Formats: sequence, structure tokens, C-alpha cells
Amino acid sequence: MITVRGLTKRFGSTTVLDGVDLDIADGERVAIIGPSGTGKSTLLRCLNYLDRPDSGVIRIGDLTVDAATARPGQILALRRRTAFVFQNYALFANKTARENITEALITVQRKSRAEAEARADVILRETGLADKSGSYPAALSGGQAQRVGIGRAMALDAALMLLDEPTSALDPEWVGEVLDLMRRVAERRQTMLIVTHEMQFAREIADRVIFMEGGRIVEQGPPSQLFDAPQDTRTQNFLRRVR
Ligand code: ADP
Ligand code: MG
Repeated sequence: MITVRGLTKRFGSTTVLDGVDLDIADGERVAIIGPSGTGKSTLLRCLNYLDRPDSGVIRIGDLTVDAATARPGQILALRRRTAFVFQNYALFANKTARENITEALITVQRKSRAEAEARADVILRETGLADKSGSYPAALSGGQAQRVGIGRAMALDAALMLLDEPTSALDPEWVGEVLDLMRRVAERRQTMLIVTHEMQFAREIADRVIFMEGGRIVEQGPPSQLFDAPQDTRTQNFLRRVR
């Protein structure tokens, strides 16, 4: 179980996250939608302290991290329980696909090299990338690169997978294969929080959809409710614009 209370982030005088409360059950798949500039990425980044929140409490299992008192050891522990998939893949350019997957297993999870490599090889097969094991990111298509990004996150077996618009940077021809892989991750009941513009995909895989605007959760519910019978005028207006 993941619990977030009062998560707040300011950049200068702008409040980008305005006291977000959020509960995510084990195995739950939650999609976040909303206009750009409303704090969706900042929420994900604050959840694993890529951005440090100004205030708020994050609880994952028995770990509690309060922004007021967070120590480096707690932040590291939080990062060990989360896995992040970035819009632009964020692969290490000087590492092969396989090394991109083993890196955090070795440095963050302290697995032995042999153990990390065995895990990476399983993941490379599962993501259909076994033949790209030794390829560097520059030699991969966008779809392959993002599959490495997702595979790297899968390998961590994290309590929470955070995915920030994982298909937004892709040429249209690569979107399908990345959505297919994320569908498979979702089918495993990996607890996930995914920011996406792919409304059909969100409807398919999410147990719950959250609409965010202005740094706040405006409305949330099962996909059928949020997409077909949105209650808030801001949600209605947004959905009208993107459809
Ligand atoms: P979204 O992902 O919903 O498009 P973001 O979380 O990226 O929104 O950004 C929310 C707001 O915070 C935007 O106005 C953005 O310009 C601002 N912002 C995000 N990151 C920074 C930063 N590092 N420094 C200053 N402003 C930022
Ligand atoms: Mg964003």
C-alpha cells in the first residue's frame, strides 16, 4: 500500500503541486491525465525524490518519508522501492542495452554482477530485445530504446513503477510495441502510476484514472466513470479537447 499526504512542490513563487493526497493499493494500476503544465511530471518526480517536495509524506509499505525530515538513507530506500520510466528513455548512452538494465541492479540493489546479468537476460527475452543485448542506445529505434527503459524498470521489481508519458517522444510507428509491453507489465499486476495521453490505453489497463489540473487532483474514478461520465467541468472540458 502506498500513501501520499499533502505533497507540495513550489518552483520559486509558483506552487506546482498543491497538497496532493493519493492512496494506491498493491497491484493497482493508476493512470494520470491532464493538461500540460499541471504538475503531472512533478508529482511522479517528487514520489521518488528526483524533485524534492517542499512538504508532504510518502509511505510505501513500512517506509515513511516526510519532506520535513527526510534523510539521505530514507531517500535511497524510497528510490529502491520505485522504478522510473522516462519520456525520453534516459538510457546511459555509453552502456549497452544489457548494461543499462544491470546498472541499477548492481549499484542500487547491490546484486552481484552474475545475478544482475542473469536477471537482465530474462528481461531482454521478455521485452523481445535478446538480439539487442549488446547494442548501444544510438543503434536502437525509439521503440527498442523505450522497451529497454521499461525493461530496466521491470528488472527492479519495484513496489511502484512510475511512468511519465512513455510513448510521447516516440514516432507513431513505435508507439504500438511500447503500449504492448506496458500492457504485459500491467497484466502482471505491477503497481503502477502512469502519466499518459493515450486515453484508450488508460481505459484498457487502468483500475483508476486521475484527472489533474493546477497541481491538484480534480477528479478520479474507474475509467468508465471518468471517461464516460466525468463530474467536474474541468475534466469535461479537457476530455472534449483531447477527443
Ligand atoms: P506536466 O507534466 O503536467 O506537463 P510539470 O510537472 O512538468 O507539468 O510542470 C508543472 C509546472 O512546473 C510547469 O509550469 C513547469 O514549467 C514548472 N516546472 C517544472 N519543473 C520545473 C523546474 N525544474 N523549475 C521551474 N519550474 C518547473
Ligand atoms: Mg509532464
